[in-house]
Amino acid sequence: MNRFMADHMLKRSCEWLRLMGYDISYPECHDDNDILEYCIKNDLILLTRDYEFYKRYNKSIFIDSTDYKDQVREVISMFPPDKNKFFTRCPVCNSELKDVDSKIMGSDYNTVKSNFKMVKYCEKCDKYFWKGSHYKKIEKEINTFMDNI
Ligand SMILES: [Zn+2]
Repeated sequence: MNRFMADHMLKRSCEWLRLMGYDISYPECHDDNDILEYCIKNDLILLTRDYEFYKRYNKSIFIDSTDYKDQVREVISMFPPDKNKFFTRCPVCNSELKDVDSKIMGSDYNTVKSNFKMVKYCEKCDKYFWKGSHYKKIEKEINTFMDNI
């Protein structure tokens, strides 16, 4: 399974790709040298909009599009997504989500009610995810990415 690093210009597409199960780190620093060092150390494929940056690392991919939807398509056409991995990763922090019983949600449980017995949970962000109306919108958008590659 390939693991990636996205540069600062790819934040939005990075979040979408995480929703599709891609393991994508996002730099916490702004120093290109530190980002490259991290990529080399962790054997990450660098996704970048910066051509000069792209040329500095042999495991990098230059992302041509400025629109996040096209950026997502560029990546998924090169690295086909695994549908079983959809919604397994936190879009915010890239952690793997855990399946938990919705009863542990406390006050948020009222929002989810008993419609969703199992929900996904990100330990790092302390955030729950469930297949409500927001999820359906996300799923629809993912399908449009898939249809147009
Ligand atoms: Zn998270």
